[in-house]
Amino acid sequence: VAMPTATATPTPKAVIHQRYGAKAVYRVDEVREAVDGVCPGLALPQSTRCVYRCQLDIPGVLSVSTPGTFVRKKDAEQAAAQIAIEKLGIQPTSNIPNTPEEAWEELISRISYFFTDENFPTSSHPLVGHLSVTLRRTGDFLGKIPISAIIACDVKVHTLCKIIDPKAEFDPLLVLSMIYNAAKQSPGVSVSNRNFWIQSQRPYSPEAVDLALQCWSGISDPIRVEAVLIPCAMEDGPKMVSLNISENEHYMGDIALKLSATDPSHVLVSRTVDKASSEMRFYFPAPDVQFVSDLSKQLVDDRENRNMNCIINKRASYISGQTIYGDAVLANVGYTRRDTELQTDHVNLCTYYRILLRKLPDGIYKISKDSILVAELPCVYARTSWKGPSPRDLLCSFCRLQRLSEPYFAANRVSASCNVLGSAVGSEEMGSAKATAGNQCANDGRIAKENPDMFKCSVKIYSKKRDLLLEYSTDYSWSKETDAIQNSALKVLIWFNRYFKQLNTPVEKLYLPKSTDGFTIYPNIFLQEFAMCLSVYGKTSGGDSRTCSAVGYFSMDTSYQQLESSAFLTDIDGQDSGVFPSHGSLACISYSVHLFMKDSRKRYLLEVNNEFEFEIGAGAVRNQLESCATQLSVNQSACFVDQLSDRDLSLAAACELSLDLSKICRDSCVLEFSVKVLQVTEPLEDRMEKALFNPPLSKQRVEFAVRHINQLHATTLVDFGCGSGSLLDSLLEHPTTLEKIVGVDISRKGLTRAAKSLHQKLSKKLLLQTSVPTAVLYHGSVTDFDSRLYGFDIGTCLEVIEHVEEDQASLFGNVVLSSFCPAVLIVSTPNYEYNPILQRSALPNKEEEQEQDAGPCKFRNHDHKFEWTRSQFQRWATRLAASHNYSVEFSGVGGSSDEPGYASQIAVFRRMARNQGESSLNEDDSHQPYEVLWEWPNASIPSH
Ligand code: SAH
Ligand code: MG
Repeated sequence: VAMPTATATPTPKAVIHQRYGAKAVYRVDEVREAVDGVCPGLALPQSTRCVYRCQLDIPGVLSVSTPGTFVRKKDAEQAAAQIAIEKLGIQPTSNIPNTPEEAWEELISRISYFFTDENFPTSSHPLVGHLSVTLRRTGDFLGKIPISAIIACDVKVHTLCKIIDPKAEFDPLLVLSMIYNAAKQSPGVSVSNRNFWIQSQRPYSPEAVDLALQCWSGISDPIRVEAVLIPCAMEDGPKMVSLNISENEHYMGDIALKLSATDPSHVLVSRTVDKASSEMRFYFPAPDVQFVSDLSKQLVDDRENRNMNCIINKRASYISGQTIYGDAVLANVGYTRRDTELQTDHVNLCTYYRILLRKLPDGIYKISKDSILVAELPCVYARTSWKGPSPRDLLCSFCRLQRLSEPYFAANRVSASCNVLGSAVGSEEMGSAKATAGNQCANDGRIAKENPDMFKCSVKIYSKKRDLLLEYSTDYSWSKETDAIQNSALKVLIWFNRYFKQLNTPVEKLYLPKSTDGFTIYPNIFLQEFAMCLSVYGKTSGGDSRTCSAVGYFSMDTSYQQLESSAFLTDIDGQDSGVFPSHGSLACISYSVHLFMKDSRKRYLLEVNNEFEFEIGAGAVRNQLESCATQLSVNQSACFVDQLSDRDLSLAAACELSLDLSKICRDSCVLEFSVKVLQVTEPLEDRMEKALFNPPLSKQRVEFAVRHINQLHATTLVDFGCGSGSLLDSLLEHPTTLEKIVGVDISRKGLTRAAKSLHQKLSKKLLLQTSVPTAVLYHGSVTDFDSRLYGFDIGTCLEVIEHVEEDQASLFGNVVLSSFCPAVLIVSTPNYEYNPILQRSALPNKEEEQEQDAGPCKFRNHDHKFEWTRSQFQRWATRLAASHNYSVEFSGVGGSSDEPGYASQIAVFRRMARNQGESSLNEDDSHQPYEVLWEWPNASIPSH
């Protein structure tokens, strides 16, 4: 008969408990699962059952959740624990003590064990490398090793120390005191009273020494290892040091010299600093404290009293997440566990600045793009075009590197129930684009069936101690759970990124009202968690921000530039090919960035990229660079100069040059950018439209307008939001009755393009002696009235309103119909209900996109503030027409009026009989806020 094994093998939960005790937090979520396939949104009793999903959080260690669901709660918990055990590689048989007392006993015997003859020295001995070298020494130092070598080499000792006092994780000095005190009680081991050497009480047997010397491969020549010294004083910049390691000398010896430490035993060692390189650590001098007893309290008190001798190295502490005192050397040297050979690697300033960069919210993204100086975290997430680590992964790395708990994502299903049943989403957001899930259902059962559910995701950021410090919740919902998670993760990253760019934000500003942007900050915990970061980057440390002595102002002076800020280009080369990067298009460029020193007139290459792709308008690159790219056309190149506002970034990019650059001053240097536009891929919106429609929708819109112009025999036309002039331009290709054409836009860049192409067309027409209309381009907002555009025959506003907020769209409607008063107004905007068809047709081959409800983004274009369903658009237009004495008719281009309507929906407003006297009011000439940017005839083309 088989014995029950339950007592023999502990359950996964028991194993986790043994290790982490109360730190392990289980969270069981109840999930309602349909027993059979009933429609989720239906307000009828349905057969569902309750199942469970479990998330296990071990702060600072890991966070896992069960992929599936379980009928019983406890099964879900055990499953989560089992996943954690597998991920952590825990051997359930290893016996880890439960109590501090047990751990203390074990620590004492562990130290003894290192020095017993029978265990010494095997190749698996954790200290074999250190022991081997110390046995080659002569005199007093024979066989003595620094206690901190144990800290660096033995994982078990570390685990035990953490059980004795959890603070040990963050404090190498505390660990040193524990080992020191434990060693005093360890049989066979002796420690000195004045320093931190540890050695065997008895001399080793000659055989053991022989064996140790055999293990030790030795170094024939002295080794030189480059390292970085991080001074404790913030005013002093990090500098390169060279460590010289010679035979028979313990490697801590030279480090002690560099740190002016009493002797090698007084050098403390941090945990490893960077995952990428296994053995990079901080070495720093042990502060002058006496370890009176084995109680950590004593140590803490002592330190507080003597804080003159214990100055915290803020930069090293920030990087390592441990408390580091005095000047510190960042080096990659030492015997790793069970290594008989010294493992060394050079560490330079670039390494240091890259480690700093990695801790920033956008740092890993920049590094992954191999574009530190140019790439920026985009402000929008689109699954198909996002390259590099996902926002979710970036946020997880950020939290890990800032020593916070793993971020907590809660993606919830929001039922897209029909309007008739009423739904939370629909009622909350009535009339807005966000309610489209609900509206779709009412308008078109087919789409509703394809999109049964939407997802919203909220995010919570906890400290290691599981105190909440930031909370993000959103009203936006997505048809895919991963889109909801990624978009929320990106929002949180962007929030942190913005915060890091203005770290001196006063505390009060952290109390943002929740309603404004979905963020709730808990300032006490928040500031506590970022205290070290603030003291490294904050301006609190004083100092002149114009000199580059400290890291202090690193990314902080990069204030927000306005969108329309333009780079001043020089050395423009190549013909204008007419193909230019516009908003939403993908630009592929090559670029190089040089650092130019004004004094010495020297130029250093910092970064170069022969093929770099980014989306225009998504905030994916440095502002000035985007401005440069949009002023060029394919095959053109140009240069521009930018301030060296972020010195640390330049240093992170500089690689081998870092030595030369470490003392640079911001005022005496500039960054020189050289850029060439290689290729432009049209905006996704256009690509989608082109894939489906021939002629393209934009052409069809023009033809729609031409039909109305000719019907009306219109002589004057104003295009509201003319952009780069595609409508005005095309109108010149059709025979029309027009005598005057006018464009208005808020973007100078677009207007400049429009001016160039209109100028070309009109000049050509003039040569052919055809009749030519007059033309004007105004810079201004269509929500402002300008009397020069009063009473035109026809006004067009094609694909513009969705680019402004809804209240602005309404304002525009009112201003146009009450003040501009065109006889006819044509307004077009995307039909949201058509998107599934567009998106499917644009991406027919990608496997993932074949899923019924997949879409690369919520709207057709990232710049769209909303996209309306037919009913939303018609409600807006009908109300507008009624209140201004206009009639309105609905039509469209692309597809047909059948379900789900046209791809681009159009409203045609017609002015009805006007009251007398109304006109004179509006013809007030004094109201002319628009600026004439270009005029035909007498035109001179505006420059940027
Ligand atoms: N009508 C053009 C461009 C559409 S893109 C076409 O069909 O191709 C939208 C345009 O609206 C952009 O050029 C943008 O600069 C412009 N725009 C956005 N808000 C505006 C405002 N308040 N006033 C004037 N133009 C605006
Ligand atoms: Mg648009």
